[in-house]
Amino acid sequence: MAPTKGDSGSLSRREFLGASATIALASESVLGTARGEDAAQSRPWYSVMRRCGQINYNERDPLSIDPDAWMDYWASLEVDAVLLNGGGILAFYPTRVPYHHRSQFLGSRDVFGEMAAAAKKRGLRVVARMDCNFAYTEALDAHPEWFEHNADGSPRTHNECNWLYKTCTFSSYFTEQMPAIYREIASQYPVDGFFTNGWPSTTAPEVCACSNCQEIFRAKIGGIPPEHTDASNPLYRKYYEVYMDRVLEIWKLWDTVAKEKNPNSVYVGNLGGGISTVKSVKKLADVAGWFNADHQGRSNDTPIWNCAQQGRVAQSVMNGRTITNVTGAYSNSSITWRHTAKAPAELTLWLAQTTASGMVPWFHWLGGSPEDNRWRETGRAFYQWLAANEPHFRNRRSLADLAVLYPQSTIAFYQQVKGVQSTDYLQGLYYALLEGRFLFDFVHQENLSAAMLRKYRALLIPNAAYLRDSECEVIRDYVRAGGSLLATFETSRYREWGDPRPDFALRDLFGASVAGETIGPYGNSYLRIERPHDVIRGFEGTTLLPCPEYRVPVRAAGAEPPILSIVPHYPVFPPEMVYPSTPKTDEPGVLFREQGNSRVAYFPGDIDRSLWRSGNADLSQFLQNAILWVQGRERPQVSVKGEGVVELFAWETEPGYALHLVNYTNPNMTRAFVRRFYSVGPQQVEFAVPESKRISSVRALRAGRSLDFKQEGAIVRWEVPSILDYEVVALT
Ligand SMILES: [Zn+2]
Repeated sequence: MAPTKGDSGSLSRREFLGASATIALASESVLGTARGEDAAQSRPWYSVMRRCGQINYNERDPLSIDPDAWMDYWASLEVDAVLLNGGGILAFYPTRVPYHHRSQFLGSRDVFGEMAAAAKKRGLRVVARMDCNFAYTEALDAHPEWFEHNADGSPRTHNECNWLYKTCTFSSYFTEQMPAIYREIASQYPVDGFFTNGWPSTTAPEVCACSNCQEIFRAKIGGIPPEHTDASNPLYRKYYEVYMDRVLEIWKLWDTVAKEKNPNSVYVGNLGGGISTVKSVKKLADVAGWFNADHQGRSNDTPIWNCAQQGRVAQSVMNGRTITNVTGAYSNSSITWRHTAKAPAELTLWLAQTTASGMVPWFHWLGGSPEDNRWRETGRAFYQWLAANEPHFRNRRSLADLAVLYPQSTIAFYQQVKGVQSTDYLQGLYYALLEGRFLFDFVHQENLSAAMLRKYRALLIPNAAYLRDSECEVIRDYVRAGGSLLATFETSRYREWGDPRPDFALRDLFGASVAGETIGPYGNSYLRIERPHDVIRGFEGTTLLPCPEYRVPVRAAGAEPPILSIVPHYPVFPPEMVYPSTPKTDEPGVLFREQGNSRVAYFPGDIDRSLWRSGNADLSQFLQNAILWVQGRERPQVSVKGEGVVELFAWETEPGYALHLVNYTNPNMTRAFVRRFYSVGPQQVEFAVPESKRISSVRALRAGRSLDFKQEGAIVRWEVPSILDYEVVALT
């Protein structure tokens, strides 16, 4: 474990290292001693990294950039590593690789070399930030085969900078030119890794019309794939596989090249996308030593918790390995301003979610000579607080007792209900989980296994319409073994690419079969409460609840009358016509089953998406009731009662346990940007620890104070007096 300020007396780790004469050697030996445990297990440096930063300089910066001033700044944030622009589009050093274009302002400088040396002098690791996506005309003239082409034969240009041409992932630019550049940099500079901006990303694969790609399509796919995502097309399915294979081949090649000179080096690609992904994050994570989420901020109506969601997606495939998340300090809204800072409160909440969800923050500014310097202190204050409490951010495992299935196939390819956002189902469930203050993890559908699910009391499935037979089998076994399940809408109705099944693959668990085509979109339909049930508590005073906008008509397997029945939609206008033509049916609106400890709740309607689209409070309460019911009778791992919209994460850490509470209570919660915080009052916490574990201290790290607590058996109770932006309560 790295020393913190507290461990090394009045000197911070960086000051301590900076005082050393033979810096490069000293940093290795000091870190080696301080991280003896890691050295013994030969864990790579980036697996114990807790903070990093990036100055993304531009072509003109060699005229004015001051490497020492920049590295003083990053050292003051106590970062472990800095990302520094090496080359790709532009070389920031005197390269000899043909067609590797030098910055026109480089002159006699070696900006990358100077920046790297200044970083090393302060004991910071250096990752060369590269760009493999574009190159100049001289490269196009010499190697047209390196570039993407349009169907009319023209090379593809950058949409703003039309003197740059888009490189083709299937070309030797990726297998020869980029490795040549990496090797040149590794041979001349003390780099600890390589990162590529913008590649491969998690967005939809693009389709290139260059002659090489046409040949690959003919040979490997049997035709030209469609330009847009269309998993109903067999050519698209093959293309997706061929494209993913190519990305993995390049990732592995670049990681091998990165390690040639320095076995502790690493290649890290650019991923991200929050909960919206098309390229398989599971496959990417299988080759990634380090997952970097380029999820720098939000815009418009994206909810503030989008960064925590990114953390959960990445955790669902990285199983505890290093994940970083880039936070843009500039104003990256839907109108982008690269050279002015975003509101400090928004910036801080993004960094807070990064660390709460177990990711490592990567603080990012563009331009080597900023005129706006307001962002600097926001990052420094947060990073110094992190550094001062570093052991408590070294997580061993999540303590969540609920699993939410991350349904990537559905999110990537769902086309059955036209015009809907495929992420809305997950967003709606997430909103209910937030309002109910549940503790949960995402589990990627391709990581489903008995071992993975064993620790969870229930699996919650937000419309995983596209599921493999094997995935359904794991879910079935989990429920048979006593696990509980909540699922919505078309879950298991289709195979992984969207081919329909005759019925739900999980119909035995749901206790219901498909009785017709999916119905909707209809407002003004209802669920009529027919019989009492735990899940419909709190709805006294009404026999009608809102029915979701879409639903699968189902036939119950059993003969019992429904607990809630469907009232089909009727006109909203004119008021004279607003009455039900069919006030009563026996179509079930929800199904609950109980067998031993296992409880199953199945919603034939898209209650999650309808909640997200409408904001309806009844739908949220109904979902929360159902989650509580499937969670079972036993006490949850953690309960936090109090006012406010607060997201929870709980971790077993190296020194003990940590409960993270992120306060989203804010008029800008669902509309960017947060400009100030609104404090929430006392929170009553009950936290379960192993019976044999005696807790000796409960400390609020953000408030910087110890909290009174009581432990009775396995339960530790305390009050958090208030939360401004974020609180981390450390139990040791
Ligand atoms: Zn191509």
